[in-house]
Amino acid sequence: MAGQYGLPGMSGQYGLAGQRFPLSFVSPLDDVEPELVPGDVTLTVQCQCEQCSFKVALSVSREVVPEVLRCYCRACRKYHASAFASYLRVSRQACDVGDDWTFGECARRSRGTCLALGTVERIFCQRCFSKIATIPRHGPQQDDILVSLGCVQDASVPEFLAKWWQRHFTEVDPGAQAPWWGVVSSPADPDEGADCAIVAEGGCCCGSCVFSAAFDPGFFLQHCYCGLCRHLSGSACQTWVPCRKNDICWLQEASKVVNRFSSHAQRHLCERCGGVLAIVYDAEPDHMWMAAGTLNDSDFVEDFAAHGCTVVHICCTMMQSWYRLPLDGQRRLRYAS
Ligand SMILES: [Zn+2]
Ligand SMILES: [Zn+2]
Ligand SMILES: [Zn+2]
Ligand SMILES: [Zn+2]
Repeated sequence: MAGQYGLPGMSGQYGLAGQRFPLSFVSPLDDVEPELVPGDVTLTVQCQCEQCSFKVALSVSREVVPEVLRCYCRACRKYHASAFASYLRVSRQACDVGDDWTFGECARRSRGTCLALGTVERIFCQRCFSKIATIPRHGPQQDDILVSLGCVQDASVPEFLAKWWQRHFTEVDPGAQAPWWGVVSSPADPDEGADCAIVAEGGCCCGSCVFSAAFDPGFFLQHCYCGLCRHLSGSACQTWVPCRKNDICWLQEASKVVNRFSSHAQRHLCERCGGVLAIVYDAEPDHMWMAAGTLNDSDFVEDFAAHGCTVVHICCTMMQSWYRLPLDGQRRLRYAS
């Protein structure tokens, strides 16, 4: 199965010599060991299309470093279409936004849920679907802004802060991790239904887009760290699983739109909740790559990896400095192929 899916104009043999990072590569800051330096930091938060933008002024001391959260709750995973949400918790006063969190009607504010934080307001760009921020509506955190770290501009994050956030973050609801997250490549076990497709339903968080897909045995997971995946998820990466178009049935698609954000592919999204559903490469019109973050956990049988699995990290040159890849022995490609 490995190598079956290529990318447009590519050989299909991903991982060509010179295009890979060594298996020991974990982050762009591997060779840097900056000291944590107290002081004032200004971060720039910006959506992919640059219509929504603001600054966050932080004061860093050795005692107090702004907190980063990773929420694995089912609701945050669906909204971000990612394995987890990455939030930087800041005070409202730290953001130079004022009261208009629509950035002059560019962003949409919608009510949502985080299973750990309760009712929240989700803010995403209506034009490029970047997930900008989440605002808790109840409890002691309701004056906080949870900035989507995927929309924080790399150049504005000092190395010492990035390196700190690589190692220090609060895991919210870690028991709720997606069944496919952390899985590594494995050959199919012939006694475990190696020939059976994995049938799963998925959809966006508002429920207006729902699909059922039959994935080939040899489940292929691509974790992508490119700028679009980071901005549109608001998190560290988006994970894609290929499926033949004929094996996908859209059960509901009233609010589904198809947008082109790059020269070689189109993305399917939910206009209502901003959810990323799938990507279709121009050179591969018969396939859709579904966002794994949209798949329902309950459709994964306990040992689904026994059907065979291939896992690869792609676009690692574009990885954010505050994230570390796991030392999972999986291939790390510089680009998509
Ligand atoms: Zn935008
Ligand atoms: Zn959550
Ligand atoms: Zn939706
Ligand atoms: Zn990507």
